[in-house]
Amino acid sequence: MRRHAGGYLVHSDELDAVLQCPVRARLKKEGTSIFAGDRVDLDEVELTDNKERGSAVIAARLDRQNLLTRPYIANVDQVIIVQAIHQPEFNSLLCDRYLVHLQLELPAVRTFVCVNKCDLATDEEISALRNIYESAGHSMIALSAKTGLGMEELRRQLAGNRSVLTGPSGVGKSSILNVLNPELHLKVDVHEELLVGRHTTSASELYQVPADHGHEIGPGWIADTPGYSLDQLRHPEPAEVAWQFPELAQFAEECKFSDCLHLAEQNCNVLAHVERIPKSRYESYCTIVAEAQQERKFRQETSQKVDAGAVKYVGGEQGRGKAIPKLSNRHRAPSRRKEKQQLHDYDRAEDADLDDDE
Ligand code: GDP
Ligand code: ZN
Repeated sequence: MRRHAGGYLVHSDELDAVLQCPVRARLKKEGTSIFAGDRVDLDEVELTDNKERGSAVIAARLDRQNLLTRPYIANVDQVIIVQAIHQPEFNSLLCDRYLVHLQLELPAVRTFVCVNKCDLATDEEISALRNIYESAGHSMIALSAKTGLGMEELRRQLAGNRSVLTGPSGVGKSSILNVLNPELHLKVDVHEELLVGRHTTSASELYQVPADHGHEIGPGWIADTPGYSLDQLRHPEPAEVAWQFPELAQFAEECKFSDCLHLAEQNCNVLAHVERIPKSRYESYCTIVAEAQQERKFRQETSQKVDAGAVKYVGGEQGRGKAIPKLSNRHRAPSRRKEKQQLHDYDRAEDADLDDDE
């Protein structure tokens, strides 16, 4: 479930108990990372008298299906993007950016859209949004944490799954979690206080969503995450953006230009059918392609400068250009290896924090 007192709180499905578990020294030495959502093997299980709590030792971490970074959550079954329909106004571009980012982060994981505060909207407004997202292949739940509208549907979706809740602040994520599990008592509307705690990466935690009476499926687990800022979002290659928009991709497949970006090209098959794509989605597509192009340009510029030694020649024929200093490390995209190292450092830093507490 989360880190706790130098170890982890682990829920045993078999015993339906929460156990305080230190990690075997060997695992620590090997640098095995453990995050909320990981499945582990336990040794030395001992239960307290009421059998709801106890202790054990984490002896191994099982292989992961996937790993969400920021915050680190392992083995995610589904991602729920939460937005309000009003207050704040539904933001299509933001929603579509999250969809693209999360499809890149967790490619095989289903993503659905939860539209909260539907008590403030008309049925027409709700069904307009539903049409847009269902034609894009995502289910949409119309929700109101205030009136309870849609909460049963959400509960059914959560049952038996490990879910991640994400979305900008103010849309009602804490309110939704409080309805799902009244024991949580998450603070609503105390944003300054929340921002401090929530934006640290160590805030990764899974909450239990109690099993739904009358349904056979077991409890679900849910992680609340802060939203993403623009510079944290992943960008696809410009030509790949279309594949993240299924309602556009169906026409892109038939486009006869293999390098077409479907923006302004003559005889483009997407443009020929553009009135069949929801306007907000096509606008998001154009914006995200433009951002992906900028990102690629930046990456190309910086990577060219990596191999060129201490100086690089620009402009003019070979050997006659102007020498400029190589870009410093700070401006280069991190390599895979460096990312791995950072993951490791993150783990060790967390261990160090906890040792301090103790
Ligand atoms: P979070 O930042 O996403 O966790 O959002 P909060 O749960 O703190 O809610 C932000 C504000 O929206 C609070 O004032 C809530 O009372 C309000 N709110 C949450 N859900 C609803 C809803 O379904 N309907 C209405 N009208 N207001 C809501
Ligand atoms: Zn095209």
